[in-house]
Amino acid sequence: MDLEHASIAMEPAADAHDAIGASPMPAHLDPWERRLLADPSLLGDLAFAMGGPFHVMYPERVAHNIRAFHAAFTHAGVHGTIYYGKKANKAACVARACAEHGAGVDVASVGELTAALAQGVRGDELMVTGPAKADELLWLAARHGALIAVDDLGELGRLAALASQGAPARVLIRVLPAASASRFGMTSGEIEDALAVCGGHDSIRLEGFSFHLSGYDAVARAELAGELIARCLHARTLGHPATTVSIGGGFGVDYVAAEAAMEFTEGMRRQWFHSGKSFDSYYPYHFPAPGAAMLAQILDHDDLAGRLRDNAVRLAIEPGRALLAHAGCTVFRVQGSKTRHAHGLPYRLLTVDGTSLSLSEQWFDSEYLPDPLLWPARPGAVTPTSVGAATCLDSDMLSWRRVPLPRPAEVGDLLIYPNTAGYQMDSNESAFHDLPIPPKVVLYDATGDRFRWTRDGS
Ligand SMILES: *Cc1c(COP(=O)(O)O)cnc(C)c1O
Repeated sequence: MDLEHASIAMEPAADAHDAIGASPMPAHLDPWERRLLADPSLLGDLAFAMGGPFHVMYPERVAHNIRAFHAAFTHAGVHGTIYYGKKANKAACVARACAEHGAGVDVASVGELTAALAQGVRGDELMVTGPAKADELLWLAARHGALIAVDDLGELGRLAALASQGAPARVLIRVLPAASASRFGMTSGEIEDALAVCGGHDSIRLEGFSFHLSGYDAVARAELAGELIARCLHARTLGHPATTVSIGGGFGVDYVAAEAAMEFTEGMRRQWFHSGKSFDSYYPYHFPAPGAAMLAQILDHDDLAGRLRDNAVRLAIEPGRALLAHAGCTVFRVQGSKTRHAHGLPYRLLTVDGTSLSLSEQWFDSEYLPDPLLWPARPGAVTPTSVGAATCLDSDMLSWRRVPLPRPAEVGDLLIYPNTAGYQMDSNESAFHDLPIPPKVVLYDATGDRFRWTRDGS
C-alpha cells in the first residue's frame, strides 16, 4: 500500500451514514498520553494556565527512542552514533535529553548550534549540515570541533581558509546519490577534487562521507551506505582518516494501525472533507518498521553491519522525526462550534484558539490525519467534525477531513492532536494575526504516577 500516492475516489459513498464522515484514524497512544488524558484535571489546568494553545513534550519518550537506536547498533555489533536532526523540533528539552542519553545533535544554523551547546551537547557531539554554510557557522563549528558535512567545493575552500592547523576542521563530504535530482551533495567528479583539497590543507581532516535521502526506504539507504564504505576505503589510500559514514535521517514513524490507514485509503472521497477539499498525497501514517526497527533492517541488508565492522567504519544516523516519535502532542481549546450540512447531513465545524501553523502538514499541501482527541471524555453520539483556525483565512483549517469525534464538541472542550512533536509543532509557527506562539509544556514523572510540569526552556 502506498499512501503517499493514493488517489481520491470521486464516486459517492454507498452508505449514507458514511457519506460525509471520514473513517477513523485513531493514533497509537503512549502510556504517558493515556495518563495525561485520563487525569481529571491536569489538561484543563494547563489550558487555564497557558491561556491559549500549547504543546506538550515528554522528554522521557525521547530518551526511550534514543535507547532503542543505541540497542539496534549494539545488537548488530556496530559502532554507531546518533545525531538528532534538530530542525524537527526546537524544544530545549529534546536537546537536553540528547545530552543526557548519549546522542549528538545535527544542526544547520548558528541558532541551532548555540541552542544545542546551551543544553549540554558538546561541540564534538555536533554534526553541522546544510548547503553553502555561512562563514560564521563554519568558523564556530570548527572552533567547537563539530563534524561538518560539506556540501560543495566552494564551502570546503572557505572552511580550509577559516580553520586552523592546530585544530583542523572535521569534515564529511556530502555525496549526491547517482541519478538523484537533489540540490544537495557533490558529484563523483567534485568528490575527487574535494579529496585533493582536503589533502592539500592541514586545516582539514576528512573523517568520511554522508548522505540524506528523502523517502523512507531502508534498502536504498543500506545500498548507498555500502558505496560510502568504498569511498572511505579509497580516501584512506590517499592518506585520509576516513572512518565515518552518515546515512542521514528519514526513519519512519508509525502513527496509526495498518487497518485504519487502509480503510482511509480505500474509502477516501471528497465528500469526507469540509467544502469538498482534496489533497494529492499524504504522509505514510502507518509505518510497519519504524525508527530503530528500520535501522535494524538497514544494518541487516546485505550484511551492512558486517561490512562496517570489517572495515572499521562508524555509522552515523541523523533521525529527526523518529527521535520524537510519541514524545509530544498539541492542545487547542474549542472556541466556536457550528452545525453545517453537506449532502443534506449535519456535521460540526469548529473554530479552535490556534492556527494550522501549529500543525505543519497543511503547509506541505497535505493534512495531518491522526484523529484529534476530545477532552474531557463524555458519552455522546459520533459526530463528523472539521476543525478551523482562529484566523481570518478561509483556508486556515487544522482538519478539513470530517473526523468522527465521539460526541459533539462544545466551546471550552480541549482538542488534542497526538504525536505532533516531529515537525508538526513549530516548523512553521509565526505570530500571524499577532497571536502568541504556543508555549511548550514539558512533563516529567513525579512520584505516585503523578506528572510535574514546567515550561520548556527554549
Ligand atoms: C532533515 C534532515 C534530517 C532529519 O530527517 P528526518 O526525516 O526528520 O529523520 C537529517 N539529516 C539531514 C541532512 C536533514 O536535512
